[in-house]
Amino acid sequence: MYDLIIIGSGPAGMTAGIYAVRREMKTLIIGKEVGGQLVWASEIENYPGFEKIGSFELINKFKQQTLKSGVEMKDDEVKIIEKNEAGNFILHTNRETFEAKTVIIAMGLSPRRLAVKGELEFNGKGVSYCANCDGPFFKNKRVAVIGGGNSALDAAEVLSKIASQVYLIHRGSSLRAFDSLVAEVRSRENIEVILDSEVHNIEGNDKVEKIIVSNINTKLDREIVLDGVFIEVGRLASTDLVADFVERNEKNQIIVNTKTETKTPGLFAAGDVTDCEFKQITIAMGQATVAALTAYQYLQLKSGEKNIAKNC
Ligand code: NAP
Repeated sequence: MYDLIIIGSGPAGMTAGIYAVRREMKTLIIGKEVGGQLVWASEIENYPGFEKIGSFELINKFKQQTLKSGVEMKDDEVKIIEKNEAGNFILHTNRETFEAKTVIIAMGLSPRRLAVKGELEFNGKGVSYCANCDGPFFKNKRVAVIGGGNSALDAAEVLSKIASQVYLIHRGSSLRAFDSLVAEVRSRENIEVILDSEVHNIEGNDKVEKIIVSNINTKLDREIVLDGVFIEVGRLASTDLVADFVERNEKNQIIVNTKTETKTPGLFAAGDVTDCEFKQITIAMGQATVAALTAYQYLQLKSGEKNIAKNC
């Protein structure tokens, strides 16, 4: 029996864990990928204490501190959540079942699919959603990045240092990322920006060999021969797991109050998976801190504790 199980091992999940064990809560983090969305970033320049730090270096620091503080971590995926008669949460993965008095959902966001022919077929065979993870497989090769936001431009910039040629393909007529990033991308000789264009097909035999790109205005098709396609068209909240326990907004993000409470007592949510407007590491970690301390208060109240810890 755990006092707290946290679903998600990104910055929010690990922060909640560190705070929970400081309140002597027996805590387990279950997550599919340590680091969460941080693995998609390259370098972080807005995390206080580090002027610039590689995302994997920051993830390792978080992980080491989380484990050292006494939090248990498991690489696994929660498939079903139930509540039992005692009011505790039962969490099933494909391999194990766990029981906890409280739960914090910190699952972050997942990549949005492009939904074109060949995307699923070639996933892992040239189609990728993580330039930082898979970029090194495309040394001196030709790749495309789909999307026109900060993630797409970040990916194009990272890949331009590895691949021989990068095509940045965006359906809009102008890129909508930070000005500095747009300038950086525009300055790279091996990045070709293709605007007003949509990818229709991803084609190949055993692996990706080409894409068909259509100009929205002229309707003309262009065939681009390449080895990799990086899809960076935004992120989605995959929250069906807790659909019965929470209220969600139109983006499927979990609606929480300022104490990170959901409609289910004992179940909290923190980080990008919530309806918080700004998706930033520091915000996710702050929200996770609130979630852990609120979960502790909840347990104190439940056990009839008179001296409830004041968090501020
Ligand atoms: P985003 O800002 O929502 O951009 C998604 C891009 O994908 C848009 O250009 C969009 O086109 C395009 N798109 C969406 N669906 C598409 C489809 N079906 N086919 C083709 N294109 C499609 O998402 P993001 O770039 O992943 O960024 C998410 C958040 O993280 C943002 O708030 C961003 O600022 C932040 N972020 C920050 C940094 C940083 O601080 N350095 C880095 C990465 C991300 P339209 O423009 O036509 O809608």
